[in-house]
Amino acid sequence: MKSPIKPPFKATAKLPSAGRRPAFPVRLKPDMDMQSAAKSVAAYARPAWDTGKSSIKKSLQSILPGGVGLDSQAVRASMVHKLTAQGVSDAQVLAAMGLVERHHFVDTALANQAYEDTSLPIGLGQTISKPNVVARMLELLRHGATGKLGRILEIGTGCGYQAAVLSHLATEVYSIERLRGLHDKARENLRTLRLPNVHLLFGDGMIGYAKGAPYAAIIAAAGGAAIPPAWIEQLAIGGRLVAPLQTASGAQALVVLDKNPQGVRQTVLEAVHFVPLKSGTS
Ligand code: SAH
Repeated sequence: MKSPIKPPFKATAKLPSAGRRPAFPVRLKPDMDMQSAAKSVAAYARPAWDTGKSSIKKSLQSILPGGVGLDSQAVRASMVHKLTAQGVSDAQVLAAMGLVERHHFVDTALANQAYEDTSLPIGLGQTISKPNVVARMLELLRHGATGKLGRILEIGTGCGYQAAVLSHLATEVYSIERLRGLHDKARENLRTLRLPNVHLLFGDGMIGYAKGAPYAAIIAAAGGAAIPPAWIEQLAIGGRLVAPLQTASGAQALVVLDKNPQGVRQTVLEAVHFVPLKSGTS
């Protein structure tokens, strides 16, 4: 999965009053509750004009001499800082991204790239999206909600990274994967994190998961030629679906579907490059 060609979104983070900004690094611990994490992030977030790439590089270099020190909260905080500079402004999304250790989900050989803005292979020809794309989709999914989302459905568990981030943003997360190898990998990756609200399912996500419906939100990490009707059926009234979708030209774009009592409204956003949505299991 590659990033959108040019995200049309802008940084809207408010500049905190000078005295309140904590010193770098902002402390984000995996066991931190979301409220404290969101507070730390909100205090740390700077608008795009205040964030030069070189400063992030400098921080990373001092934290990661020779690619070590990935457990450091500072590296994740730096990733969050960069996301803010790229225009992500939802404090809950930033906090959740700051809490989950992305390097825990990729092969050891790739761990030193885990916090860079790049997609990475996760095996069986699949990839984990760039942090920027994950954050963008989660921000669209939350749609400025004040609290946590209710029950949500994720199509394409992959390595389980996004499911872990989602666990901080929703009360229950149902995540389906069609490849047994990846389903098992995600189960293994998530085991030590003990996230009781994440439910991993092996199956064809094109038919959704009716038992958990209706969902407050549905998010897909793989794109097909059409949005499967089951997803729309299983979305609650007032719910939102975010997914990549093939466009007429054969390219892919991010789409948002809002289901309301009058019907479904579709909004087509920027170009994206996700792996294909396939039917059946393997
Ligand atoms: N969110 C994942 C990204 C996984 S990549 C992560 O954080 O790692 C997309 C995944 O969608 C792949 O693992 C692919 O196997 C899966 N996929 C494709 N079609 C699917 C389908 N019909 N049902 C379930 N999973 C599907």
